[in-house]
Amino acid sequence: MGSELFRELARMVAALAEVQGLRSFALPYPGLAQRALDRMVMHCLDVGETPPRSLPELWEWCRARPADDPLFAVPASLVTPGATLVHPVGRMPTRSCLEVASHGPDGGVAADARTLLSDLEVRYGTGERYRQCRRFLARHPVVRQRDRFGSDWSKAVWSRVKEFYGPLPESLLVDSVFLRCPSCGLPALPRDGAVPVSGPSATDADIWCEGEECPRDDPPDLIRDPDQTWILRRSLRTFLALPHRIEEAARDALDRAGIEHEALSGPLSAYRLRDTGPEIVDIQVYDRLQPALLAVHLTDSAPLADRTLVVVPAVLAGRDGYREAFTDALPALLRDRLVLTTPVDLVPDLGRARKEENDDA
Ligand SMILES: [Zn+2]
Repeated sequence: MGSELFRELARMVAALAEVQGLRSFALPYPGLAQRALDRMVMHCLDVGETPPRSLPELWEWCRARPADDPLFAVPASLVTPGATLVHPVGRMPTRSCLEVASHGPDGGVAADARTLLSDLEVRYGTGERYRQCRRFLARHPVVRQRDRFGSDWSKAVWSRVKEFYGPLPESLLVDSVFLRCPSCGLPALPRDGAVPVSGPSATDADIWCEGEECPRDDPPDLIRDPDQTWILRRSLRTFLALPHRIEEAARDALDRAGIEHEALSGPLSAYRLRDTGPEIVDIQVYDRLQPALLAVHLTDSAPLADRTLVVVPAVLAGRDGYREAFTDALPALLRDRLVLTTPVDLVPDLGRARKEENDDA
């Protein structure tokens, strides 16, 4: 019950962030927000808690109460304890929120990204024209007027992808300035709503970016012409642009090792290795904070190759409990077929997998 409610709230938070400035919740609330609020009130009455009185209060609960709060009691085997739906600093949907909102039969936000890319592929074919568009979207979550005079700008590609961009929403501006994280290239916001002074004073605790996990050695870029700037849809920012760096690192590792591979058609960051004998070996790349939800997604995304190496950022794979949560959430039959790895470990893990295959034969 609590898990289901948590997911409904995640969807509400994700959807509200798309449609309006989050600081302006006025009555009447959008339908899905009113429904989520009603369900929360019912749930509170069931468990004997004082319910939230308004949408702003519910939003604040989503910021303060994590998945493992007794109110939701989402099992740790599904969502990392401590994960909130609204980021405490950025006051925006967290990455975990979008991942929770993508969990379930209709696939939510992540499915939206997949649909947009599939449509693009249908329109432009599976060949280089589509790959160019995809690469552009992945590398340009934010586009500025001045980029259009750069040497690598392609007018043809822009005309195919520009419908995926929109003006910067008010909610991402601070005193008419747009902040961009120098590491992930995604939007950033300061804790107290004031443009941070450049320099070492902008510490981790003061700045949020959509990537959430970025180092804060450098202050955010300040973009002072927001009306000359366009932003990619959030679903593609999170589920295409964010994992793109890992995808490039994984591909580089394969290239350096001389392992031949080809991009699989379809919206996923997926590759099939060549010359693997009778065994079909795929590589899929993800940047997900929630390992159990990733495992569930992979389990549901049939058909899988004989063996799939699932590449995630090293910083996540090395996190306490990440690998275990991923493996535990897989059905026993898939545990040998899905290998969680990182760009650095990819080639050694492939070698190990190949050796096991030979030993079995
Ligand atoms: Zn970042």
